[in-house]
Amino acid sequence: MARRQEQETAREEVTELAPDVLRMELPIRLPGLGHVNCYAITDRDGVAVVDPGLPGPSAFRALQVRLKQIGMAPRHVHTVIVTHSHPDHFGGATQLAKEAGAKIVAHRAFGFGPPAMHQAPEVSVDDLDAQREDDEERRRTMEQLASTAKGKTPWGSERQQPSWRTRLKWRALGWVSGRIVPHISDPVEHGDVMNLAGREWFVVHTPGHTTDHFCLHDPETGIFLAGDHVLPTITPHIAGMASSHDPLASYFYSLDRVAEIANVGQVLPAHGHPFEGLAGRTVEIKEHHVERLAMVKQISRNYGRPATVNEFSQHLFKPRSQGPMADSETFAHLEHLRLAGEADLHVGQDGLHRYVSG
Ligand SMILES: [Zn+2]
Ligand SMILES: [Zn+2]
Repeated sequence: MARRQEQETAREEVTELAPDVLRMELPIRLPGLGHVNCYAITDRDGVAVVDPGLPGPSAFRALQVRLKQIGMAPRHVHTVIVTHSHPDHFGGATQLAKEAGAKIVAHRAFGFGPPAMHQAPEVSVDDLDAQREDDEERRRTMEQLASTAKGKTPWGSERQQPSWRTRLKWRALGWVSGRIVPHISDPVEHGDVMNLAGREWFVVHTPGHTTDHFCLHDPETGIFLAGDHVLPTITPHIAGMASSHDPLASYFYSLDRVAEIANVGQVLPAHGHPFEGLAGRTVEIKEHHVERLAMVKQISRNYGRPATVNEFSQHLFKPRSQGPMADSETFAHLEHLRLAGEADLHVGQDGLHRYVSG
């Protein structure tokens, strides 16, 4: 499969997309992704940045280099907006708050849940097939991280513990302990209005990819900051290991919610190129999940007996994609069917969840 635009390597070039709105690409190393877009919104007081990349000095330097091109430095950042609680989006926030006294804006539900959830994958396991060669190693690291929580998965299987070497490495980076998760000084919620670049931007709460995800809409220019809610060519990861009962239902609801917004022009995603046609893209993403749900039912009919999450997963995904991430996505789809009354759950003496559907 050809490389997707979300996998392109971060360029140093800064592009202006609308008056006072600029795109800066920051390097990231996550499975299926090559960069994260950090948007700069400038005004008389300085600059607000949306999703300032991964934690750590090299990501921060990359941000500095790009800010310099627009005549800014980290000390000019007065506001950091974090669309959701994933490290490639909130990474630079704490340092900007420390160095510039920037306020940190995120949804009021930000950061709930165990630290392991902050290391949830970004893109659907399907889209990892389009990955670069070195992604295989990154994917394995993510899978190990997803297993840092102890005990059993919500569907009753044993978690695989990462090696002590991996655990030590991540502890040193402070990720597992949650040290890099920022303190949110200015929590927002759906319907709030933010003043940026002298214009009013509306907060649209869009749970699904994470419970705390939100988008920002500026009706005056039509700009829609989409975060990871709607990406141009890949499907965001919807985890079964989430704090809500039915993350897929939340996601469908949030896709409909943004498709209905009037005066949307340019969509600025957190990964990939700016695009137009927000409503059409939400339909495509929904179709992907509807197909996946139909496949789940077909697999159940083929088994002709209650099957475990892992058994479903083995038929839904290619062998190279198997693992905790694939299982987590499968679990989200099975629970969605169960809560819609289209699947039955049996919990065996072994503690494993088994589902029948269709
Ligand atoms: Zn994300
Ligand atoms: Zn992302």
